[in-house]
Amino acid sequence: MNNNADIDVSNAQILVVDDTPHNLDLLYAILNCKGYKIAAAPSGEIALSIAPSLKPDLILMDVMMPKLDGFETCRLFKADPNLQDIPIIFITAKTSLDDIVAGFDAGGVDYISKPIKAREVHARVHTHLHSRALMKQQVVLNDRLKDLETRSRCIINEVTDAVVTVRPPGIIESANPAALSLFGYTSDEMLGKPFVELLAQKHHDNYCGHFIQEQLQAPPISENAIEVTGKKHDGSTLPVDLTIKQLDLNYPLYLCFIHDLSIHKNILNELTRLSNLDGLTNIANRRRFDEEYEQGWHEAQRKQLPLSLIMVDIDYFKQFNDAYGHQVGDECLQKVAKALEKSVIRNADLVARFGGEEFVLILPNTDSKGAITIAQTILDNVKQLDIEHRLSGVAQVLTTSLGIATLTPVKNDVLSTLITQADQALYQAKETGRDRWVLFKET
Ligand code: GH3
Ligand code: MG
Ligand code: MG
Repeated sequence: MNNNADIDVSNAQILVVDDTPHNLDLLYAILNCKGYKIAAAPSGEIALSIAPSLKPDLILMDVMMPKLDGFETCRLFKADPNLQDIPIIFITAKTSLDDIVAGFDAGGVDYISKPIKAREVHARVHTHLHSRALMKQQVVLNDRLKDLETRSRCIINEVTDAVVTVRPPGIIESANPAALSLFGYTSDEMLGKPFVELLAQKHHDNYCGHFIQEQLQAPPISENAIEVTGKKHDGSTLPVDLTIKQLDLNYPLYLCFIHDLSIHKNILNELTRLSNLDGLTNIANRRRFDEEYEQGWHEAQRKQLPLSLIMVDIDYFKQFNDAYGHQVGDECLQKVAKALEKSVIRNADLVARFGGEEFVLILPNTDSKGAITIAQTILDNVKQLDIEHRLSGVAQVLTTSLGIATLTPVKNDVLSTLITQADQALYQAKETGRDRWVLFKET
């Protein structure tokens, strides 16, 4: 689009209306040298009849004409919605104040006085053509702007993420349907609200100053997504990613994208839960054991509390599989896992499958006496399952052997110490007849 200085009006269409052929000829000669397209009408009636198809950019109108005079013709032009925008300049010898006012009242934009002077005609015609071109340009620009606004609103409304615009000092100016539905507000409730009310209280101090540029102490706007806790209208909270972009406009405006993380979080939690579970027995797996053991070890070291570990191994399980089949063996492992879980009381205790038919228990803040009690309970509980084991070398039913180790770790102790010791104790339990527990003792 041209800017003002570039507007070219030389191509404009001008309609000259005059009942005197000489005047028409004169005006034609004056205007033609500027390159304008010129049409002539010898009366107001003809001017009105040709104007709709001619679509002139400007009309030069004689005032004194038989039948319809210039003022009346002008009034008729102004009464027609399709013609009323065409500027009309009167050409007249009548230049008294009353005449001039009557012309403006009729809807004219200017006067050219007779006798006609070429330079005056050029100057007035150019001025009015130019301002009309500017007006048209403005209309096109306004239409484009409206179109752009409509399009950007449509896009924001279609976006599935919540989008709100915020103006200083942090007031919500607009919100898309996704934002309203995510936070449970109606449009009336959300617009005009402080943006921080969409965030949990703990974020308020951080975000209050975000939208006030003048506040030098305000934390700078980060354009990266930051995980924060959102607050819904009903007061419930939800995890969201918040991205704030400062728009480069004549006035400060911030575009806030809010992405709901609830579904991702739930999936992640579920995946984490599953990755910590043993698929067969549904108790903690080796991965979880490794993590908990390391934590338990360091806590015991820090608080100087005893930590106990019990290794549990099913006796003659190979023979059990041989006698009853692998499927029954699997079911047996599930029952033993349940019996082990039943044998511990404290929340902090962890029962995990160590691998194959071996299980392990972490007992924080438990001395050897406490661990022995648990071990004996395990022996009894598994026996009480009363699972027939006709190929067992020690009993008629399924039994276990247990190795117990207890330690209050000090600084230079090695993390794996308890596992090695419980393993050694388990080996002794097997060696000394199975179906028993053995507490590790330094030799
Ligand atoms: P011990 O009394 O010395 O412990 O003898 P055991 O037969 O129990 O020990 P061994 O280590 O020789 O055999 C372990 C058996 O456990 C071998 C394997 O078939 C069985 N086993 C390991 N994992 C599973 C499993 O997931 N399901 C089933 N059904 N059996 C398993
Ligand atoms: Mg084994
Ligand atoms: Mg075994």
